[in-house]
Amino acid sequence: MLHLGMKSDLGQARQANEDFYLARILTSQGRKYAVLAIADGVGGQRAGEIASQTAIRNLESELVASASEAEPPIQLATLERAVRRANQAVFELSLTEERFRGMGTTLTAVLATMDELLVAHVGDSRLYLVRAGLAQQLTADHSLVCELVKTGELTAAEAKTHPQRNVLTRAIGIERQVEVDLFCQPLIKDDVILLASDGLFTLLTDQVIADYIMGTCDLQIAADQLVQAANDLGGYDNISVVLARWGWRE
Ligand code: MN
Repeated sequence: MLHLGMKSDLGQARQANEDFYLARILTSQGRKYAVLAIADGVGGQRAGEIASQTAIRNLESELVASASEAEPPIQLATLERAVRRANQAVFELSLTEERFRGMGTTLTAVLATMDELLVAHVGDSRLYLVRAGLAQQLTADHSLVCELVKTGELTAAEAKTHPQRNVLTRAIGIERQVEVDLFCQPLIKDDVILLASDGLFTLLTDQVIADYIMGTCDLQIAADQLVQAANDLGGYDNISVVLARWGWRE
């Protein structure tokens, strides 16, 4: 069985929660797998909220539809198709009304079987693998500061406080086509999968995140505690987290 924990919170400073997430179990041909995703919307007048919800809902309906197909749905190509549909849906909606113009969202999405993760990623939300008490970031941020760190123009410490640290180099819904990072990650027993918006990991270090997760076997308690910890440190942004762990041979 799959253990889940999830929470999305307004934080202490924002007027609206523009984060949105998905955590559900699908079954195809008798095989269970998890669909996990997180989206952090950008755009004025609450358009970010529309963008993140539109992306997640389109991703979900594409994946649900694919679960009933004869073709094996647990493939990177299936996930990629769902992310491209999400991109197209947000982009097309952004053309329909002035208040939606230029809206976009991050989207990090995972199909998780007991053996492996299939990952699709656009933007600066993050996927971590928590293994043996350590949190390892699996996704690369598509952000200006991350590019500047890569080229040596900024240090990682400078990136954390840079005034343009929220500027994305890639997002869902901005253009008709989007470049999507796609990869697989093998899973072993007791691995915890963590998806989070920047409102969480900007305030909590990787080690603090791992310590909360290792501190309880109840992932919902861990999710609640992580969000509380980010709020206690200021909660400057919306805070969202999705946690999952397979219970082996139960
Ligand atoms: Mn955010």
